[in-house]
Amino acid sequence: MTVTKKRDLHTDAPLWSATPRISVRTHRAPLGKTYDVVIVGAGISGALMADSLADGSRSVLVIDRRKPVGGSSLASTAMIQHEIDTPLSSLTEKLGKEAASRVWSRSMSAVERLSDRIREGGIHCGFQRRKTLLVSGDELGWRALKAEAELRAEGGFDAEFIDRATLGDRYGIERTGAILTDCSASANPAQMTAGFLRQAARKGTELVSGTEVTDIHDQGGHVELSLSSGQTVVAGKAIFCTGYEYLKRLALFDHDVVSTWAIATKPGAARPDWLDEFLLWEASDPYLYLRSTTDGRIVAGGEDEADEKAHLDKAKLRRKAEIIARKAAKLLGTGPLDIDFTWAGPFGVTPDGLPIIGTVPGSDNMFTVMGYGGNGITFSQIASEIIPARIAGRSDPDTKLFGDRSTGATRRAA
Ligand SMILES: Cc1cc2nc3c(=O)[nH]c(=O)nc-3n(C[C@H](O)[C@H](O)[C@H](O)COP(=O)(O)OP(=O)(O)OC[C@H]3O[C@@H](n4cnc5c(N)ncnc54)[C@H](O)[C@@H]3O)c2cc1C
Repeated sequence: MTVTKKRDLHTDAPLWSATPRISVRTHRAPLGKTYDVVIVGAGISGALMADSLADGSRSVLVIDRRKPVGGSSLASTAMIQHEIDTPLSSLTEKLGKEAASRVWSRSMSAVERLSDRIREGGIHCGFQRRKTLLVSGDELGWRALKAEAELRAEGGFDAEFIDRATLGDRYGIERTGAILTDCSASANPAQMTAGFLRQAARKGTELVSGTEVTDIHDQGGHVELSLSSGQTVVAGKAIFCTGYEYLKRLALFDHDVVSTWAIATKPGAARPDWLDEFLLWEASDPYLYLRSTTDGRIVAGGEDEADEKAHLDKAKLRRKAEIIARKAAKLLGTGPLDIDFTWAGPFGVTPDGLPIIGTVPGSDNMFTVMGYGGNGITFSQIASEIIPARIAGRSDPDTKLFGDRSTGATRRAA
């Protein structure tokens, strides 16, 4: 029995599993019985949440059924974009101009704030600021991209439309147009997660792994969490940072899980010089996205399928990897890519591309962070601002924007 979904969060070993400084010391069981806050999940959202909450004023426990950094955060390609998957024009149609602009500006400030936190904490995770280039594809052609760039500029967001000729001259890319922006980043997501968990531990947070939360009861003033070890811990507040293993009772939200694939080349791959300053993605369905790493690998991904189990198919993983490598080489105008790592995983999506960051319906003491899509890291940063503010009794102007999303949702089987 468990309160959250259980699934394989990555098929085959992602690139980051072979990098140093990704392990974190943990206990096998909680040392105490009562905590001010219990965070379930030691991925990037649990790590950023713990680090935000660990200010010495409260006791915090992070608990995970896996080793820290053993979930989706290990599989992430870590394109840390302010530019969210849903274009500003589509989000404006769905939410209205004011709400859509607020989402975009919040994701922009989230990248800035994350960048500050990494610098202030001295977290070594290959963090680099990057520009982004969104190139035309079968979903948005040059006219749609031009209109999108104009809308963004009107809203005060940094965006430059690049036409076909300039795209060819500057970047050697043969597409009809692109949007250039300047506020994103990249990192090693495993080192980043481990770094924030270690920092939270230094500030007094207790980390437990290999123990699962099997049941939860909101008792009014506190939450009781039953563990697979047979223990029960009592929390003033419980926060479920369980990624795509969301709380089963939250299957009522409009939240779907799809499959996605990724590759990494060997280090020192032949690539255009400009790529090291950019995140590159295309406005297509399925889309392709790529970037370089600090040791000169090309990391690319995409080819998403609306099937939560397709990523488990090993033959499909090989086929998808070849397609991604072929498309990436064509877009960059390089020779064939020398693939070193291939991996796949599930990926949570919501109809408007926004995460769900708020209370669990029916409980004021339980919070959840889920949804995420292709901007999981950016949204984890936002969650680590909104939920700690609520716990501290402060208001956050965007609480409703990300949290109050159960209205009108349809219940699906857990
Ligand atoms: C191939 C791929 C590429 C991606 N690329 C990007 C990208 O470029 N940029 C980006 O921003 N995002 C990207 N993402 C998305 C990003 O990886 C996720 O949004 C993010 O890692 C989610 O972090 P998390 O901490 O919420 O979840 P996780 O890292 O999965 O952590 C959740 C943890 O909760 C634990 N848990 C669950 N249930 C329980 C329980 N009952 N008891 C105890 N522990 C429990 C799990 O064991 C797990 O360790 C990508 C995802 C994939 C799969």
